[in-house]
Amino acid sequence: MEKIVSLCKRRGFIYPGSEIYGGLANSWDYGPLGTELKNNIKNLWWKRFVQSRDDIVGIDAALIMNPKVWEASGHLKNFTDPLIECEKCHARFRAGDTLLMPHIATHGGSDEKSIENATIALGLWQKNPEEAMNKYPDQFQKWLADCPKCASKKSVSIGFVKKFNLMLKTFLGPAEEKTNIVYFRPETAQAMFVNFKNVLQTTRKTLPFGIAQVGKAFRNEITPGNFIFRTREFEQMEIEYFIREDDWEKYFEYWRKEMIEWIKELGVDIKKIHEAEIPDGERAHYSKRTIDFEYEFPFGQKELYGLAYRTDFDLKNHFKEAPYKEEEGDAFWPHVIEPTWGVDRSILVALLEAYHEEKDRVVLKLPPKLAPYKAAVFPLLANKPELIKKAREVYEMLKSCNLQSAICNLSVAWDDRGNIGKRYYSQDEIGTPFCITVDFESLANDDVTVRDRDTAKQIRVKISELTDWLIDKIS
Ligand code: ATP
Repeated sequence: MEKIVSLCKRRGFIYPGSEIYGGLANSWDYGPLGTELKNNIKNLWWKRFVQSRDDIVGIDAALIMNPKVWEASGHLKNFTDPLIECEKCHARFRAGDTLLMPHIATHGGSDEKSIENATIALGLWQKNPEEAMNKYPDQFQKWLADCPKCASKKSVSIGFVKKFNLMLKTFLGPAEEKTNIVYFRPETAQAMFVNFKNVLQTTRKTLPFGIAQVGKAFRNEITPGNFIFRTREFEQMEIEYFIREDDWEKYFEYWRKEMIEWIKELGVDIKKIHEAEIPDGERAHYSKRTIDFEYEFPFGQKELYGLAYRTDFDLKNHFKEAPYKEEEGDAFWPHVIEPTWGVDRSILVALLEAYHEEKDRVVLKLPPKLAPYKAAVFPLLANKPELIKKAREVYEMLKSCNLQSAICNLSVAWDDRGNIGKRYYSQDEIGTPFCITVDFESLANDDVTVRDRDTAKQIRVKISELTDWLIDKIS
C-alpha cells in the first residue's frame, strides 16, 4: 500500500487533501492522472450499463435531498454503526471490524462458532443494542480488545457502545436551526426511488428496467482509512433494477454475473474475489438478501462491491399509492435488485492489480481502456528540429482524433525530456500502454516505433495506419 500511495502522490494520481494546511484526515484529491483514471472507469461503466442497453436509463440528482426522504427510507433511524469509546483516552472506534472481529480472530476465538456468534450478536446489536447486550453480555465484554490508540488494557467497555448515525449533517440557509438541518446523501440510491414515477412517465419503460446514477455519497465514518478505501466523501455507481417480485432470484443471479464481468474489466484477478453472503441480522435494514464482493486488499479481505435485493421497501415507503401499472392488471410496487460499485474502491483495486516491479522498472499494467494516457509520443532526440516537427505532427494527429472520436478515448501525452530510456520508464510507471517514437527512419519511411508497455517489445507501424492500430489495441 505504501508504494501505491507514494506513486499516486509522486505521479499525480492522488494527493492528500488540503495538504498545504496540514491535510484533512482521510481526505484525498485526485490529481491530473487520477482524474483521467477515475473518468475512464466511470465512462466505461456508463457505456456498459447505460448507453449500450435498452433497459437502463441514467439520472444525475441533487446531493442534498429533502430530509423527509431519509425519514421514509429508514436512514435517519437505521443508518448507524456501533461505536465504541475508550473510557480512558476517549478515542472512538467502529465496534465490528475495528475492535471486536480482530480480537476474536487473534485471541483464541477464531473457530467458526465464535465468529458466527459474534456475527449474530453484532447484527442484533445494530438493530437493537439493548437486546443484544442483554442476550450476550459476557461475549461482548470478552470480545472487546485493548484500546488500539492508548493500548490501555480493557479500557473500552460495553457500556461505552453507542449507535452512531453515519449521515453527514449540514444546514440550508443562514440560520443554523433544527428546522434547517439537511443531510448529504449517504447513497445515491434514494434519488432513483423518488424519481421513479418521473422516469417512468418520461421514458415509458416497462419492467424489468433500471435507473442508474454515478455520483458522490457522504458518510460520517467512525474509522475512515486505508487510503481511498474508506473515506467520508466518495463516489458510487449504482443501479436500481426494477422487477416483478417473482423474478427476484433470477435477476439477483443475473446481476451477480454482471458484477463479476465488470470486475474482470478492471484487470482484477478473479481468484482474489470472494463472495460473502451476508447473514440475517447483519444486512442493511432494507435488504432481504445481500452478497458482498470482497477483495484481498493488502490490509485484509474487505468489501469491494455489494449486491442487494431491496424488495419493494423503498418504493413502498416513498409512494403511498402503487406507482406502477401496465395496461392489463392492477397497479403495484415493483421490487428492486441493487448492484452497487464504489468508484474509489474500483480505482484502488485497479491500481493494486496493475502495480508491478520488474528488474529496474515499476510498471502499472492497467487495462489499456483505463490507462490515463493511451500513448505517449516522443522525438528520438530533443535537439533535432526535423524529428520534433514530425513527432509533433503525429501527436497532433492523435490528439485531434481523440477530440473527434466519440467512440474511443485516445488521450495522448508528449514527452521530449531526458533520454528515451527514462521516458519509457516514466510512462511505464503511469501505465501508458504504448510509446511512439519518431526516429530518423520515420523521416524516410513515414512510420514510427511503437513500444509495448508490458512486453517492452517494439514494432514499426505506418503513420497512416497508426490511429486505427491504436484504437484496435485499446478497445
Ligand atoms: P462497508 O461495509 O465497507 O462500510 P457498506 O456495506 O456500508 O461498506 P454499501 O452501503 O453497500 O457499503 O455501499 C456501496 C459501495 O460503496 C461499497 O461496496 C463500496 O464500494 C462503496 N463505499 C461504501 N462506503 C464507502 C466509504 N466510506 N469510502 C469509499 N467507498 C465506500
